[in-house]
Amino acid sequence: MTQFTEREFAAVLHGPRDVRLEEVDRPRPGPGQVLVQIERVGLCGSDLHYYVDGHNGPTVLDTPTVLGHEASGIVVGVGDGTPPKLLGRQVALEPATSCGVCVICRGGRSNLCPSGTCLGSPPTNGALREHVVIEHRLAHPLPERLNPEEGVLIEPLAVGCWAVHRARVATGHRVLVTGAGPIGLLTAKAALAAGAVEVTVADVHPHRLELARRLHPGPVVDLSTDELPRTGFDRMLECSGAPSALEAVETLKPGGVIALVGVPQRRSVAPLGYVQRWEVDLVGCFRYGPAAFRSAIGWSGTGRVRLSGLVTARFSLAHTGEAIETALTDRTQLKVVVQPNAA
Ligand SMILES: [Zn+2]
Ligand SMILES: [Zn+2]
Repeated sequence: MTQFTEREFAAVLHGPRDVRLEEVDRPRPGPGQVLVQIERVGLCGSDLHYYVDGHNGPTVLDTPTVLGHEASGIVVGVGDGTPPKLLGRQVALEPATSCGVCVICRGGRSNLCPSGTCLGSPPTNGALREHVVIEHRLAHPLPERLNPEEGVLIEPLAVGCWAVHRARVATGHRVLVTGAGPIGLLTAKAALAAGAVEVTVADVHPHRLELARRLHPGPVVDLSTDELPRTGFDRMLECSGAPSALEAVETLKPGGVIALVGVPQRRSVAPLGYVQRWEVDLVGCFRYGPAAFRSAIGWSGTGRVRLSGLVTARFSLAHTGEAIETALTDRTQLKVVVQPNAA
């Protein structure tokens, strides 16, 4: 018996600055999977890297790929053995998978699994299309108070929650966040939710600083003109990837922790003498480990983290190229989203 296959649109990246709206088969949910109608897709630094350079760090776009790993939507179909109560629920998609059986996964470090995949990371297609099929346990129901626009920020907030976990941010800490992009501001929110008494956000770009002054409830420092306070920070969460940001490690208190969240250049220079002398712990953060996604949903569901006001521009799927260009060039934007099912 032949089954009628529905068609839909996807934004497919073929190479640098070559994104095309194409007709593709609508996917069908298999056992344990759900079909999600995508409402919002957030554009992120990695999407921009694939668009401009055709690669993101070592991951190369060598086959046409649908980008997008920050997504919210509505469950409109379930496969065999999938809880039917998910039908109709608004969800945030957890984009990364792991094998679950290797030594690394079994050791609780599933985000480092060598055979892991991620939506929108070539060759795995992402969410810049009308529907996505995903394992039901990766479609997290959104709390009532969150709308799809806030739901799309759960994924980048999970990055911040993981950074806070890795850096062991605790009650009463004074925290420095370098980099005032979406990840920096969401990481600052996660640090406050984890009990930090004060979070200072630092950057050098005027528009980023302006957004930070508007959206961040603590001190904002312009590192191009001002010095950081010498009173010392307990924790530093580096979210810029800028080589100069690492200088700020010298403002950490003895025994402090610096977490690298932003992607640094391959050979970055840092004041390691200070790290050695004052026993600073330096930790890396890759996406997020187990439970960070649930913390992000929990904290935003109770209002401990507020996600309103961070989305600053919206585009239709047909205008995905324009959306990416805007995210690249318009420094007044914070989070640019695509709405694949908007009328
Ligand atoms: Zn992202
Ligand atoms: Zn594994």
